Order: sequence, then C-alpha cells, then structure tokens
Amino acid sequence: MPVVFHSPEEALRQVFGYHEFRGHQREVIETVVAGGDAVVLMPTGGGKSLCYQIPALLRPGVAVVISPLIALMQDQVDAARQVGIRAGFLNSTQTGPERDEVERAYVSGDLDLLYIAPERLTMANTQSFLRSGQVALFAIDEAHCVSQWGHDFRPDYLGLSILTQGWPEVPRIALTATATEATHQEITERLGLGSAKHFVSSFDRPNITYRIEPKDSVTKQLIGFIRGSHQGQAGIVYALSRASTEKTAAALREAGIDACAYHAGLDPTTRRQTQARFLAEDGVVVVATIAFGMGIDKPDVRFVAHIDLPRSIEGYYQETGRAGRDGEPATAWMAYGLNDVVQQRRMIAESLGSPEHKRQLTSHLDAMLALCETPDCRRQNMLAYFGQSSAACGNCDTCSNPPPRWDGTEAAQKLLSTVVRLDRERHQHFGAGHLTDILRGTTTERTRQWNHQALSTWGIGADLSQLQWRGVVRQLLARGDLALSDDGHSTLVVTESGWQVMRGQREVPLREDVLRRAGRLGAIGRSRGSAGGSRGSGESGGVDGGSRGPDRKRRGGSSSDVELSAGETSLFEALRQWRLAQARSRSVPPYVVFHDSTLRQIASVQPTSAAEVAAITGVGAAKLEAYGAEVIDVVTQWLGGVGAQNEAGD
Ligand code: ADP
Ligand code: ZN
Repeated sequence: MPVVFHSPEEALRQVFGYHEFRGHQREVIETVVAGGDAVVLMPTGGGKSLCYQIPALLRPGVAVVISPLIALMQDQVDAARQVGIRAGFLNSTQTGPERDEVERAYVSGDLDLLYIAPERLTMANTQSFLRSGQVALFAIDEAHCVSQWGHDFRPDYLGLSILTQGWPEVPRIALTATATEATHQEITERLGLGSAKHFVSSFDRPNITYRIEPKDSVTKQLIGFIRGSHQGQAGIVYALSRASTEKTAAALREAGIDACAYHAGLDPTTRRQTQARFLAEDGVVVVATIAFGMGIDKPDVRFVAHIDLPRSIEGYYQETGRAGRDGEPATAWMAYGLNDVVQQRRMIAESLGSPEHKRQLTSHLDAMLALCETPDCRRQNMLAYFGQSSAACGNCDTCSNPPPRWDGTEAAQKLLSTVVRLDRERHQHFGAGHLTDILRGTTTERTRQWNHQALSTWGIGADLSQLQWRGVVRQLLARGDLALSDDGHSTLVVTESGWQVMRGQREVPLREDVLRRAGRLGAIGRSRGSAGGSRGSGESGGVDGGSRGPDRKRRGGSSSDVELSAGETSLFEALRQWRLAQARSRSVPPYVVFHDSTLRQIASVQPTSAAEVAAITGVGAAKLEAYGAEVIDVVTQWLGGVGAQNEAGD
C-alpha cells in the first residue's frame, strides 16, 4: 500500500529527508497538486525533480514524465526507488517482459512515476495504453527541446501538444534549465501552456567559478588547470571532434590523470563502461563530445572544461551546469582561440540551413565570443543573456582578477587599416596570421609573394606580440568592429563601427590578453596575479601595467557549511568506503545511496541512534530503514577506534 501524505512538507521530510523547500519548489508543487499547469525555469541542480515527484505522491494516479534522456531513465528510476517512490520506465532498451510488467503496474495504479520517451508518447497505441490507467500529471522535462531555433531541438517534442487535447483535465508541468526569453515563450506556445503559472528562478549557479582563457597550447593548459585546481577529482572535458577527445584523453593519462574518451563513434560497450566508471568511481575525467553528459546526474562533478569554443551560450551553460550539482564549489574552465571562431563561421557558412537559421547560429556564436572577450563579470554577462540582471559576482576570473584594460584605439586603427588595404586584393583570402605578420613586419613566403613589405602598415605593430595581435583581432570581432565574411572564406572585413574607429570617432578599450607560457602553466592556476610577468615587449604598447585590481578572494557560496576536523575526515572516509560497498552490492552509483554532503553531516554529527540519523539532511524514511543501522555501526566502530587511539596516545 502506498503511504498517504497530507502535505508537500510531509512528503519532503519523510521521503527525501529534506527540511525545507528551495526557491519556487513549494509554489510549483502547490500549483500542480491543485490541478494547475506550470512552466518551471530553474538552473541545473535547482531541484526540478521534486517539483513533479512530490505532486506524483500527492495526486491520485500515476505521474507520466516525458524525458528525451533514455540513457538516464534507469538511473532516475533507481534513485526514485531508493527513496521509496514506485517508479518505472518505458523505452526501447527494454525486453518485452520488462515492458509488460511496467505496463501492468501502471494500469493497476501500482506506480507513482512513469518515465516515457517523447517519441513513444506520440504513438497512438501508447496513448490508448495511457487511457487504461489514471494519469496524475504530465511532467515535460527538458522542455527547451521544443524550441526549433534552440540548441537542442527534438521534433518529437512538437507532438506533445496532443496532451492538451487528449487529457484536458490533467495538469502539465514543463521544466527546463536552459531558457532565454524567446525559448520560454516558445515552450509556452508550442506546448499549449497558455494558462500555466510561470516560475522563473535565478539562473545563477553561485558555486561555479567561471574561468575563460585564450588558447595557447591547449593540452598543457588543461593539464595545468586540472593539476592546479582539481587533481584527483571527477570532471568532464568537452571537445568538438572525436579525434581530439581521444588525443586529449591519452595526453591526460600520460600526465597521470585518470581519463577516458567518450564519443558516439565508440562501441556501445566501451561507452557504457566509461559512463559506469565515471559514475561509480571517484576522480575519473571523461573527455567527450557533447554526446556525453545529457542526463549525467552525478552531483559531484567538480569541473567542466571546454577545449573548443562552444556553439552557443545556451549549450555552454547547460554543459557547465553539470559541474557542482551538489552545491559545493566547482569550476567551469574554457580555452578558446581565434581558430575556433573561424572554423565555426566556416561551418555555419557551409551548412545547408536556411539563411534565417544561419543568422541564428551566427548570433549564438557572436554572443559566445562576446562572453569570452568581456572585460566584465562573466556571470553577469551570461545572466544578462538569459534576461536576468545581477551584480558582479566576485567568483569568476574577470572579477577576481580584473583584466587590465588598455586604450587599444591606436592598435585597432593599425589593424583595421591593414585589413582595408588587404581588402583591395579581395580575391585573396588573408587570415589573421598573415595580418599579424604584416603588422609585426615578419617576412614570410606569402608576404614576399604579395610584396606586402611595401604596404604602408608594414611593421607598424612590432610593439605587440603575435598573441597580443590575435587578442586584438578577437576583441574587435567580439565588439563588432571587424566581421568575418560569410562567403565561406571567413575573410576579415571592416564594419561600419570599425570605420568609425579608423576615423577616430570611437575609442577602443581592450582587455589585455594574459599570455601564458607553457612552462609556467603548473603554477598559474594558483597565482594568477603573477601572469603579467611573462608579457613580451607589449608593455610599451599602451598597456596599463599598474592597474591590476586587488586580488579579491571571495569564493562562491558553498552549500556545505560543514567543515570537518582531521578526525571527522577519517570518519567521512570510512563512510565513503562503506557507501562504495553498498553501491556496488546494489548496482547503483554511490551518490544514489547518499550524497557527499549527507556523509559529511554524518561525520560531523556522529549519530548513534536512529532518531539522530533521521535528523540528517538527505535521510528519508526509506533510506533510514535501508541504511540507518549500518550508518550507526560505522559511526560506533569509528568512535571505538578513535577512543582506542586516544588511549594509546596517552
Ligand atoms: P535538477 O533536476 O533541477 O538539476 P535535481 O532535481 O536533480 O535538480 O536536484 C538537485 C539535487 O538537489 C538533488 O540531489 C536533490 O535531491 C537535491 N534537492 C532538491 N530539492 C532539495 C531541497 N528542498 N532540499 C535539499 N536538497 C534538495
Ligand atoms: Zn564575476
């Protein structure tokens, strides 16, 4: 018999072991329980699942959850069952008998939650099957997939409008962690949620530190970052190509980092094993294409790194959002270069989409580039992109180490006028490298071939290094003073605002590029303030060397206020060992048993009675019953051991 709950609070406490609702959870739950529709925009880790799981427990019937993440369904069902929710799924990975059993449970009302893939829901026989039972509510997860111009469109989502006509009396809740104003509107319109209540949370993820740096030698930079900030911790590294995931994973392993590649070209067994290792073990780094991570619910991913420029801020935010779901400090790190921009523009130009679609892709890329080049707070920039205003965060690279700005007007004029001069030889496509050679007066075969030594701008930019000039090009692109032609060659062209710069009508404050020498990378993660020393002759080029801001060291809000002593840490380690054994014997990831934060609280409180264990955040009735006695055993044994040690030490 299912337990009857009288209020959302009661379910929250008894089932999940949590003491209070977060953000809009309570209002969302009340809306849906009362039979109303809801559109919920909440960042990753914000606690969306509870918004439909608790109504599922409070309303009669079965809650049908539509999710595109088939690979994740088993995990979601496992996690729900661990807290005592009766859950099942229907998707193409099941055998006939498995499916029959879930269907039987649905029809007889022996389920609280039923996960279904969208393509299945739009099939006629699924609909008649659903009619043979009682639907408590429909939850449409990853609702941004309905947005045709979004980064993650899934045509099957368009079919979900059938729910409105088919079950007009059943409440629907659409949830997403990624939505601009435009996507939000599309979700509302296309899913027929005209009379829904809207709950838009702040998209901020305060525990994530954002760091973005120019590419120099990217593998070395990545290794330096991991060693400097996240040695031995779990992380995801995103790359655009399959080849580069494999190459990078190999390089990381060589550097002693436990890394595996993951992409759609690998055989299913390898992929499954990699994912299983990542979930089950501590400290595995997966180097992946974006095929990995959709639906990776692991709460303790400590970093997400991008070694290629993502295609949009939406995608970037979703991918980086996989870090630190548990609310503990985590890092989103990226290295990007001009070549990334050029390559992506070319891909857009050569793609088969409509002109409108290409314009969309281009504007996504422009926004991404502007984020990379901003001298202001990264978080502020991203939140503004999602239509939310905020103050500078103090927990990103530009806040904690404000990039010195310099008056780049003169440099910009030199560069733009070289572009204009080259433009006269339009049939030729000169890239940024050639431009830099001209400015620095570096003779190459090509400069000789075209007699570019004769240009009036030859050598007038020798005061800036090659890398600095590349930085100037990127920033002018981000500002819109330069553009890349869309003829498929990505030739640099001067825009109207660029002409204003040349005429001296606009100033160009630029952020100074931090130049990082490969040999010094190991130290840089720790002491960013010293990176200025490696700058070349550039300081004479108008660089405001003295204006580096005070190194503000405010860290983002960590949710775990529990700081463990050395002794408590040894109990925490003992609990982790115990958790690993439990997880193995039940074939679930360790965090499904208990989160780190729960173990940390146990290590600090050291409960020796069931009542004390029950008071720990994250211990609901089902987990108390399953694990309570063992937790007390681990604690009691540890207490005995500590006592013995103390005596021995006397
Ligand atoms: P999302 O789906 O929005 O990414 P989840 O639903 O997976 O987030 O929740 C993220 C984590 O926060 C989960 O481990 C969940 O159990 C936990 N959580 C959710 N709501 C609360 C709450 N009110 N109090 C404490 N922890 C919560
Ligand atoms: Zn900031």
